[in-house]
Amino acid sequence: MVLSVGLVPKSGMAEIAKKLRIALDDHGFIKTSEFMPGDTISDGIYVCGVAAGPRDIPESVTQASSAAAKAGGLLSAARNTLTSSKQFPEEIQISAQDRRIAVFICHCGSNIGGYVNVPEVVEYTKSLPDVVYAEHNLYTCSQDTQRKMVEVIREQKVNRVVVASCTPRTHEPLFRETIQEAGLNPYLFEMANIRDQCSWIHMNTVADATVKAKDLVNMAVCKARLLQPLKRVEIPVIQKALVIGGGITGMISSVSLAKQGFEVVLLERESSLGGHLKHIYRTVEGRNVQNFLKSVADEISTNSAITVYTGACLKSIRGFVGNYETLIDLADGTSESVEHGVVIVATGAQEHVPSEYLYGQDKRIMTQSELEGMLFSPDASQRLEDAESVVMIQCVGSRDDHHPYCSRICCTQAVKNALLLREMNPDVNIYVLYRDMRTYGFREDYYRKAREAGVIFIRYEEEDKPDVRTDQRDLKVTVTDPILGEDVTLSADFVVLSAGVEAHKDNAELAKMLKVPLNEDGFFLEAHVKLRPVDFATEGIFVAGMAHSPKSIDEAVSQAEAAAARAVTIIAHDKYYAEAAVSHVNEDLRDTDLCILGSE
Ligand code: SF4
Repeated sequence: MVLSVGLVPKSGMAEIAKKLRIALDDHGFIKTSEFMPGDTISDGIYVCGVAAGPRDIPESVTQASSAAAKAGGLLSAARNTLTSSKQFPEEIQISAQDRRIAVFICHCGSNIGGYVNVPEVVEYTKSLPDVVYAEHNLYTCSQDTQRKMVEVIREQKVNRVVVASCTPRTHEPLFRETIQEAGLNPYLFEMANIRDQCSWIHMNTVADATVKAKDLVNMAVCKARLLQPLKRVEIPVIQKALVIGGGITGMISSVSLAKQGFEVVLLERESSLGGHLKHIYRTVEGRNVQNFLKSVADEISTNSAITVYTGACLKSIRGFVGNYETLIDLADGTSESVEHGVVIVATGAQEHVPSEYLYGQDKRIMTQSELEGMLFSPDASQRLEDAESVVMIQCVGSRDDHHPYCSRICCTQAVKNALLLREMNPDVNIYVLYRDMRTYGFREDYYRKAREAGVIFIRYEEEDKPDVRTDQRDLKVTVTDPILGEDVTLSADFVVLSAGVEAHKDNAELAKMLKVPLNEDGFFLEAHVKLRPVDFATEGIFVAGMAHSPKSIDEAVSQAEAAAARAVTIIAHDKYYAEAAVSHVNEDLRDTDLCILGSE
């Protein structure tokens, strides 16, 4: 039996809050707000991760960067005043030396050691040509082992190093720095990934995993024998950012970058900033979205570091990290060329236009956004005040064959609109027909509130969707109630569809221009789902907000600030050191059957 246990605030949270003079929410986590998810009630004290509520890893990592951006905004005047560069010993010249390779093979606790016979791999490695030293370590990335590596390199006069452990994506920079501390060029290093490629996928066959680990180490040693010192090229950085998309995500990213001391060009294809937020009036907690939007717009219009182009679109972009040149088509028919060092993609998403439930055929059938517009329109709201029955249908254009994902925001939007409607018209019957109510995290409070307020939730199955029928007068919705076990027909004054979120139709073209990937649903794909949630694999380009996936306002704000923080890691420097290892295709080998790595 496996229990999926929940998260509770850490013990001692109340004491921490008292010491820091910050507030806790009703659940005992650190109190934040939907518009400023990283802020506490004390200026200069920020929060990230599970301290502020249940989060998964990507959200926590994003929030960590967002908190860094906020701190960076406060401290920008002092940037680099207390920093010093790490000094390495003079580089050892190896051109006249015979090859001497050291190999460190990692147990990674039991992660590798439990499934690969590591001592056997070490013995085998000692027999390989040019290997002068091989040993195994419990954790090769620990500080002790790093010190040991430096000693071994010096004592054994090693001039190439191999580590057989986990993935180079996370650990190669660490090991390269370690061998630099021993005086070796950082490119005299090679890794074999015997965790992902041996112990993880051959867990049930230790002998086979061990044979494969030997093969991988052999290949890494062969490659190490060919390694030569490389020099990174120094490139000047244009300390300016381009933000594509002037919805709330792009606006927050721009403000964050400007606060951190950098110039920003903000590009928006529509005639004004604000994106979808222009059509949202309240959050589920009851906050005024239009006031928030106006305050951010005012911040942008009064900040001389931010140049805004509305009614503009990206014509072309060329260059590379630190040095981009972008041509923008402006609203007046002219073009403008902009030079910048980084790009943040914040182009948002679009609402699905339903093709089912008679949408578009009867004005009484609308989307949640359209209902929200009516709720806040003095002309239209009277019709809602007079309504006797409103039926909402969830998952319209979500979690189906064409959109297999959950659109994440529509359950909360339905609960929010149901509560607003109930407040406006206490006599109206509100029915929410749902497949699963996904008001995740603290939004669950509002789902409970809606039930307490008498909103009736009826579950339906994907293969037995509600049936909407209309004639001139009557609008009726039939759904199979799983508790009654029979069909229920509801009369409705309005049918409201919780339309899903779709990737923007222009994503493919923009992705091609920027040379960044999209996922199978057409959203922009981050470099690593957990470790680099707002980076693209292409350096210097970042993603935030709905361009990445459906998001609530607080999640979009966190991502916007996180992308700004990540962008600043590049434009805070006036120089950038380009990767020295560059792949070349050897066309001469095209027709050979087999190219053996390491052969001379
Ligand atoms: Fe369906 Fe709710 Fe997910 Fe929207 S948030 S797709 S309505 S489950």
